[in-house]
Amino acid sequence: ATPMSIISGVGRAAEFGVLVRDADALQRASSVDTLVFDKTGTLTEGAPRVTDIITFNQTKQSQALRWAAALEQGSNHPLARAITERAGEASLPTTEQFRTIPGQGVSGMIDGINVLLGNRALMQQQHIATGEADNVFATQAESGATPVMLAADGKLVALFAIRDPLRATSADALKRLHQLGYRLIMLTGDNPATAHAIARQAGIDEVIAGVLPDGKAQAIIRLQQQGRQVAMIGDGINDAPALAQADVGIAMGGGSDVAIETASVTLMRHDLNSVADALAIAKATLRNMK
Ligand code: ADP
Ligand code: MG
Repeated sequence: ATPMSIISGVGRAAEFGVLVRDADALQRASSVDTLVFDKTGTLTEGAPRVTDIITFNQTKQSQALRWAAALEQGSNHPLARAITERAGEASLPTTEQFRTIPGQGVSGMIDGINVLLGNRALMQQQHIATGEADNVFATQAESGATPVMLAADGKLVALFAIRDPLRATSADALKRLHQLGYRLIMLTGDNPATAHAIARQAGIDEVIAGVLPDGKAQAIIRLQQQGRQVAMIGDGINDAPALAQADVGIAMGGGSDVAIETASVTLMRHDLNSVADALAIAKATLRNMK
């Protein structure tokens, strides 16, 4: 090998705000053909906001928000922040028996009432009838919002529509990557309807949605078994196993420390154009070695 050109490749990458941990990563990056993107915080801004609260069964909006925010005080999920922010300064009841259901939601007991908050799969598992929310769910999800449902005492009481807009640079960056011939895949725990809506806006080729945190690395393995050379781009703690499994793990700067420590490449700028820069530098460096 010619270590000198690799070293200059690593240096050149740094000039573009791309930190490469080891020479091998640059080499592997040069033969990647598939890019797998996390949705929240990678394609999107990662600062979701509650835009609509729809209630059912005569529930007051203020009551629904109180329950939801009380539960989410115990969670550090980006969706939890959206809900507690919407509740503002209001003093909240305490939650007993708080539980996180990874990749699905949260539950607990508030004022003697069993309260459950999360995605539709979670509601279905807990035998909560969600039929009356079908229309709002579809409308909100198809427009790119993530619907989060709230049940109290076994009954659906509210749906929170939470929006996390695409990062301003994402669509242009993905267009560039698509033109370079990479296959672009979204990997997310969010529901398929919301995932497809965001994928359309971003210019993603293929969506793998509704994946539990444990399933993300498995999804990468399946792509590798199909003969693909995979780079995974993510920012969250729950992306770490997939970042480790991928041929090249790329962490968004400003993401979780665990993601950055696991990945072999870190983007200093929170801009997916840096992915194209990194791959171009990797290819140029390896060409120079031949
Ligand atoms: P992502 O792949 O976007 O990081 P997660 O695996 O963290 O998604 O979560 C998948 C889905 O589970 C979310 O879209 C949401 O519907 C639900 N969920 C997870 N955690 C929470 C929470 N704390 N509050 C509400 N919903 C949640
Ligand atoms: Mg994320």
